[in-house]
Amino acid sequence: MEVVKTIAELRVKLEYHRRDGKSIGLVPTMGYFHEGHLSLMRRARGECDVVVVSLYVNPIQFGPKEDFKEYPRDFNKDRKLAEEEGVDFLFAPSDQEMYPNQQLAFVEVAKITEGLCGAHRPGHFKGVATVCAKLFNIVEPNKAYFGQKDAQQALVVKRMVEDLNFNLEIVIYPMVREEDGLAMSSRNTYLPPKEREQALVLYRSLKLAEDLVRRGERSSKLVKDKMRKIIGKESEVQLEYLSICNGKTLEEVDSLEGETLIALAARVGSTRLIDNIVVKGE
Ligand code: AMP
Repeated sequence: MEVVKTIAELRVKLEYHRRDGKSIGLVPTMGYFHEGHLSLMRRARGECDVVVVSLYVNPIQFGPKEDFKEYPRDFNKDRKLAEEEGVDFLFAPSDQEMYPNQQLAFVEVAKITEGLCGAHRPGHFKGVATVCAKLFNIVEPNKAYFGQKDAQQALVVKRMVEDLNFNLEIVIYPMVREEDGLAMSSRNTYLPPKEREQALVLYRSLKLAEDLVRRGERSSKLVKDKMRKIIGKESEVQLEYLSICNGKTLEEVDSLEGETLIALAARVGSTRLIDNIVVKGE
Protein backbone atom coordinates (compact mmCIF):
# COMPACT_ATOMS: atom_id res chain seq x y z
CA MET A 1 0.00 0.00 0.00
CA GLU A 2 1.20 3.48 -0.83
CA VAL A 3 0.47 6.54 1.27
CA VAL A 4 -0.13 9.50 -1.03
CA LYS A 5 -0.34 13.05 0.28
CA THR A 6 -0.80 15.14 -2.85
CA ILE A 7 -3.53 15.32 -5.46
CA ALA A 8 -1.04 15.55 -8.32
CA GLU A 9 0.78 12.37 -7.26
CA LEU A 10 -2.46 10.44 -6.79
CA ARG A 11 -3.73 11.50 -10.21
CA VAL A 12 -0.55 10.34 -11.95
CA LYS A 13 -0.61 6.96 -10.20
CA LEU A 14 -4.31 6.35 -10.86
CA GLU A 15 -4.06 7.43 -14.49
CA TYR A 16 -1.52 4.67 -15.04
CA HIS A 17 -4.01 2.06 -13.76
CA ARG A 18 -6.96 3.63 -15.57
CA ARG A 19 -5.11 3.43 -18.87
CA ASP A 20 -4.53 -0.22 -18.13
CA GLY A 21 -8.32 -0.69 -18.02
CA LYS A 22 -8.42 -1.15 -14.24
CA SER A 23 -11.54 -0.25 -12.22
CA ILE A 24 -11.10 2.07 -9.24
CA GLY A 25 -13.01 1.95 -5.95
CA LEU A 26 -12.98 4.83 -3.45
CA VAL A 27 -13.81 4.64 0.25
CA PRO A 28 -14.02 8.17 1.70
CA THR A 29 -13.34 8.28 5.45
CA MET A 30 -12.29 10.56 8.29
CA GLY A 31 -10.10 7.82 9.76
CA TYR A 32 -9.86 6.23 13.20
CA PHE A 33 -10.85 3.01 11.51
CA HIS A 34 -13.20 0.44 12.98
CA GLU A 35 -14.97 -2.55 11.51
CA GLY A 36 -17.53 -0.25 9.79
CA HIS A 37 -14.76 1.35 7.72
CA LEU A 38 -12.99 -1.96 7.18
CA SER A 39 -16.17 -3.60 5.85
CA LEU A 40 -16.38 -0.88 3.17
CA MET A 41 -12.73 -1.44 2.24
CA ARG A 42 -13.31 -5.20 2.01
CA ARG A 43 -16.30 -4.73 -0.25
CA ALA A 44 -14.33 -2.36 -2.47
CA ARG A 45 -11.43 -4.84 -2.54
CA GLY A 46 -13.82 -7.55 -3.71
CA GLU A 47 -15.32 -5.44 -6.49
CA CYS A 48 -12.56 -3.18 -7.86
CA ASP A 49 -9.05 -3.65 -9.26
CA VAL A 50 -7.62 -0.64 -7.45
CA VAL A 51 -8.81 0.48 -4.00
CA VAL A 52 -8.28 4.04 -2.79
CA VAL A 53 -9.14 5.01 0.79
CA SER A 54 -9.19 8.70 1.57
CA LEU A 55 -8.39 9.68 5.13
CA TYR A 56 -9.26 13.29 5.73
CA VAL A 57 -11.02 15.03 8.60
CA ASN A 58 -12.89 17.57 6.51
CA PRO A 59 -13.03 20.89 8.40
CA ILE A 60 -15.86 22.39 6.34
CA GLN A 61 -18.40 19.78 7.46
CA PHE A 62 -17.96 20.67 11.15
CA GLY A 63 -19.85 23.53 12.77
CA PRO A 64 -17.93 26.11 14.85
CA LYS A 65 -18.96 24.44 18.11
CA GLU A 66 -18.43 20.88 16.92
CA ASP A 67 -15.60 18.43 17.57
CA PHE A 68 -13.26 19.07 14.62
CA LYS A 69 -10.24 19.62 16.89
CA GLU A 70 -10.99 16.72 19.22
CA TYR A 71 -11.98 14.28 16.46
CA PRO A 72 -9.92 11.10 17.14
CA ARG A 73 -6.92 10.58 14.88
CA ASP A 74 -4.37 7.74 14.76
CA PHE A 75 -2.61 7.75 11.43
CA ASN A 76 -0.19 4.89 12.11
CA LYS A 77 -2.89 2.51 13.29
CA ASP A 78 -5.12 3.46 10.33
CA ARG A 79 -2.27 2.89 7.91
CA LYS A 80 -1.69 -0.59 9.32
CA LEU A 81 -5.39 -1.52 9.24
CA ALA A 82 -5.85 -0.28 5.66
CA GLU A 83 -2.77 -2.18 4.58
CA GLU A 84 -4.13 -5.37 6.14
CA GLU A 85 -7.31 -4.95 4.07
CA GLY A 86 -5.28 -4.87 0.87
CA VAL A 87 -5.91 -1.19 0.12
CA ASP A 88 -3.69 0.08 -2.72
CA PHE A 89 -3.59 3.81 -1.98
CA LEU A 90 -4.21 5.63 1.27
CA PHE A 91 -4.84 9.24 0.28
CA ALA A 92 -4.13 11.44 3.29
CA PRO A 93 -3.99 15.06 2.16
CA SER A 94 -3.34 18.10 4.38
CA ASP A 95 -5.83 20.96 4.75
CA GLN A 96 -3.52 23.05 2.60
CA GLU A 97 -3.69 20.41 -0.12
CA MET A 98 -7.49 20.14 -0.05
CA TYR A 99 -8.28 23.82 0.49
CA PRO A 100 -5.29 25.86 -0.76
CA ASN A 101 -7.54 28.86 -1.40
CA GLN A 102 -10.50 30.15 0.49
CA GLN A 103 -13.18 27.76 -0.85
CA LEU A 104 -15.74 29.72 -2.86
CA ALA A 105 -17.43 26.88 -4.76
CA PHE A 106 -19.75 24.53 -2.88
CA VAL A 107 -22.26 21.82 -3.67
CA GLU A 108 -25.64 22.01 -2.02
CA VAL A 109 -28.33 19.35 -2.16
CA ALA A 110 -31.76 20.76 -1.33
CA LYS A 111 -34.75 19.24 0.47
CA ILE A 112 -33.30 15.92 1.70
CA THR A 113 -30.79 17.94 3.76
CA GLU A 114 -33.47 19.92 5.57
CA GLY A 115 -34.54 17.35 8.15
CA LEU A 116 -32.81 14.89 10.49
CA CYS A 117 -29.11 15.80 10.98
CA GLY A 118 -29.45 18.68 8.49
CA ALA A 119 -31.84 20.49 10.84
CA HIS A 120 -29.33 20.31 13.70
CA ARG A 121 -26.02 20.74 11.87
CA PRO A 122 -26.37 23.77 9.59
CA GLY A 123 -23.91 23.58 6.69
CA HIS A 124 -22.89 20.01 7.49
CA PHE A 125 -24.17 18.40 4.30
CA LYS A 126 -22.89 21.29 2.19
CA GLY A 127 -19.45 20.44 3.57
CA VAL A 128 -19.95 16.72 3.00
CA ALA A 129 -21.25 17.11 -0.57
CA THR A 130 -18.45 19.54 -1.43
CA VAL A 131 -15.63 17.33 -0.14
CA CYS A 132 -17.15 14.28 -1.85
CA ALA A 133 -17.38 16.21 -5.13
CA LYS A 134 -13.71 17.15 -4.74
CA LEU A 135 -12.71 13.56 -3.94
CA PHE A 136 -14.71 12.22 -6.89
CA ASN A 137 -12.98 14.70 -9.21
CA ILE A 138 -9.56 13.86 -7.77
CA VAL A 139 -9.91 10.06 -7.82
CA GLU A 140 -12.46 9.61 -10.66
CA PRO A 141 -13.55 6.28 -9.19
CA ASN A 142 -15.89 3.81 -10.88
CA LYS A 143 -17.51 3.13 -7.52
CA ALA A 144 -17.54 4.91 -4.16
CA TYR A 145 -18.55 3.17 -0.94
CA PHE A 146 -20.63 4.65 1.89
CA GLY A 147 -22.16 3.19 5.07
CA GLN A 148 -25.86 3.01 5.90
CA LYS A 149 -24.75 4.15 9.37
CA ASP A 150 -24.85 7.69 7.95
CA ALA A 151 -28.10 7.09 6.06
CA GLN A 152 -28.81 10.74 5.25
CA GLN A 153 -25.23 11.33 4.11
CA ALA A 154 -25.37 8.32 1.76
CA LEU A 155 -28.62 9.61 0.28
CA VAL A 156 -27.27 13.14 -0.15
CA VAL A 157 -24.14 11.92 -1.92
CA LYS A 158 -26.17 9.56 -4.12
CA ARG A 159 -28.49 12.40 -5.10
CA MET A 160 -25.58 14.74 -5.85
CA VAL A 161 -24.07 12.10 -8.13
CA GLU A 162 -27.39 11.58 -9.94
CA ASP A 163 -28.33 15.24 -10.28
CA LEU A 164 -24.88 16.45 -11.33
CA ASN A 165 -24.07 13.44 -13.57
CA PHE A 166 -20.93 12.33 -11.80
CA ASN A 167 -19.73 9.26 -13.66
CA LEU A 168 -19.64 6.75 -10.82
CA GLU A 169 -21.79 4.33 -8.87
CA ILE A 170 -22.53 4.88 -5.18
CA VAL A 171 -22.58 1.64 -3.19
CA ILE A 172 -24.27 1.74 0.23
CA TYR A 173 -23.15 -0.90 2.69
CA PRO A 174 -25.13 -2.08 5.76
CA MET A 175 -24.49 -0.82 9.28
CA VAL A 176 -21.84 -2.60 11.36
CA ARG A 177 -22.50 -2.84 15.10
CA GLU A 178 -20.58 -3.81 18.21
CA GLU A 179 -21.54 -7.20 19.66
CA ASP A 180 -23.92 -5.53 22.10
CA GLY A 181 -25.63 -3.57 19.32
CA LEU A 182 -24.02 -0.13 19.61
CA ALA A 183 -23.50 1.33 16.14
CA MET A 184 -19.77 1.45 15.48
CA SER A 185 -18.47 5.01 15.33
CA SER A 186 -15.12 6.70 15.75
CA ARG A 187 -16.89 8.91 18.29
CA ASN A 188 -17.67 5.94 20.58
CA THR A 189 -14.16 6.39 21.89
CA TYR A 190 -15.36 9.58 23.66
CA LEU A 191 -17.74 7.57 25.87
CA PRO A 192 -16.76 6.77 29.47
CA PRO A 193 -18.10 3.37 30.71
CA LYS A 194 -21.36 4.65 32.21
CA GLU A 195 -22.27 6.57 29.06
CA ARG A 196 -21.17 3.66 26.86
CA GLU A 197 -23.62 1.46 28.79
CA GLN A 198 -26.46 3.99 28.58
CA ALA A 199 -25.85 4.55 24.85
CA LEU A 200 -27.14 1.01 24.26
CA VAL A 201 -30.67 2.32 24.79
CA LEU A 202 -30.53 3.81 21.28
CA TYR A 203 -30.23 0.40 19.68
CA ARG A 204 -32.73 -1.06 22.13
CA SER A 205 -35.25 1.62 21.13
CA LEU A 206 -34.75 0.84 17.43
CA LYS A 207 -35.18 -2.89 18.08
CA LEU A 208 -38.32 -2.12 20.06
CA ALA A 209 -39.67 -0.16 17.06
CA GLU A 210 -38.80 -3.03 14.73
CA ASP A 211 -40.58 -5.45 17.01
CA LEU A 212 -43.68 -3.26 17.24
CA VAL A 213 -43.85 -3.02 13.45
CA ARG A 214 -43.36 -6.76 13.09
CA ARG A 215 -46.31 -7.29 15.42
CA GLY A 216 -48.51 -5.06 13.26
CA GLU A 217 -48.16 -1.59 14.78
CA ARG A 218 -48.31 1.06 12.03
CA SER A 219 -48.70 4.35 13.90
CA SER A 220 -45.51 6.43 13.78
CA LYS A 221 -46.72 8.46 16.74
CA LEU A 222 -47.22 5.43 18.92
CA VAL A 223 -43.87 3.91 17.95
CA LYS A 224 -42.11 7.24 18.62
CA ASP A 225 -43.83 7.58 22.01
CA LYS A 226 -42.64 4.13 23.08
CA MET A 227 -39.11 4.77 21.87
CA ARG A 228 -38.97 8.14 23.65
CA LYS A 229 -40.20 6.50 26.82
CA ILE A 230 -37.38 3.98 27.08
CA ILE A 231 -34.73 6.48 25.94
CA GLY A 232 -36.00 8.91 28.60
CA LYS A 233 -35.10 6.40 31.32
CA GLU A 234 -31.36 6.89 30.76
CA SER A 235 -30.10 9.94 32.62
CA GLU A 236 -27.16 10.64 30.30
CA VAL A 237 -29.09 10.32 27.02
CA GLN A 238 -30.81 13.35 25.46
CA LEU A 239 -32.64 12.70 22.21
CA GLU A 240 -31.88 15.35 19.56
CA TYR A 241 -34.32 14.05 16.95
CA LEU A 242 -36.33 10.95 16.21
CA SER A 243 -37.59 10.56 12.67
CA ILE A 244 -39.81 7.98 11.06
CA CYS A 245 -39.58 8.74 7.38
CA ASN A 246 -39.54 7.53 3.83
CA GLY A 247 -36.05 6.08 3.27
CA LYS A 248 -35.69 7.74 -0.16
CA THR A 249 -37.22 11.20 0.33
CA LEU A 250 -36.70 11.48 4.12
CA GLU A 251 -40.23 12.88 4.41
CA GLU A 252 -41.88 12.10 7.72
CA VAL A 253 -44.59 9.43 7.51
CA ASP A 254 -47.57 8.97 9.83
CA SER A 255 -47.94 5.32 9.03
CA LEU A 256 -45.27 2.63 8.84
CA GLU A 257 -46.35 1.02 5.57
CA GLY A 258 -43.72 -0.58 3.32
CA GLU A 259 -40.05 0.20 3.83
CA THR A 260 -39.47 2.97 6.38
CA LEU A 261 -36.36 4.52 7.91
CA ILE A 262 -36.30 5.12 11.64
CA ALA A 263 -33.40 7.44 12.40
CA LEU A 264 -32.27 9.25 15.51
CA ALA A 265 -29.53 11.39 16.98
CA ALA A 266 -28.83 11.78 20.66
CA ARG A 267 -26.33 13.32 23.02
CA VAL A 268 -24.89 10.77 25.37
CA GLY A 269 -23.13 12.93 27.91
CA SER A 270 -21.50 15.41 25.55
CA THR A 271 -21.08 12.95 22.67
CA ARG A 272 -23.44 13.16 19.72
CA LEU A 273 -24.35 9.72 18.33
CA ILE A 274 -26.60 8.72 15.43
CA ASP A 275 -28.28 5.43 14.66
CA ASN A 276 -30.98 4.06 12.37
CA ILE A 277 -32.81 0.99 11.22
CA VAL A 278 -34.91 0.19 8.16
CA VAL A 279 -38.18 -1.56 8.98
CA LYS A 280 -40.69 -3.23 6.71
CA GLY A 281 -44.38 -2.93 7.49
CA GLU A 282 -46.11 -5.19 4.98
P1 AMP B 1 -16.44 8.41 8.79
O1 AMP B 1 -14.98 8.14 8.88
O2 AMP B 1 -17.15 8.37 10.09
O3 AMP B 1 -16.74 9.64 7.97
O4 AMP B 1 -17.07 7.20 7.97
C1 AMP B 1 -16.56 6.83 6.71
C2 AMP B 1 -17.53 5.89 6.05
O5 AMP B 1 -17.71 4.75 6.89
C3 AMP B 1 -18.92 6.52 5.86
O6 AMP B 1 -19.46 6.12 4.61
C4 AMP B 1 -19.70 5.92 7.00
O7 AMP B 1 -21.09 5.82 6.74
C5 AMP B 1 -19.08 4.55 7.11
N1 AMP B 1 -19.31 4.01 8.45
C6 AMP B 1 -19.04 4.59 9.65
N2 AMP B 1 -19.46 3.83 10.66
C7 AMP B 1 -20.05 2.74 10.10
C8 AMP B 1 -20.69 1.58 10.63
N3 AMP B 1 -20.84 1.38 11.92
N4 AMP B 1 -21.16 0.68 9.74
C9 AMP B 1 -21.03 0.88 8.40
N5 AMP B 1 -20.42 1.93 7.85
C10 AMP B 1 -19.94 2.86 8.68
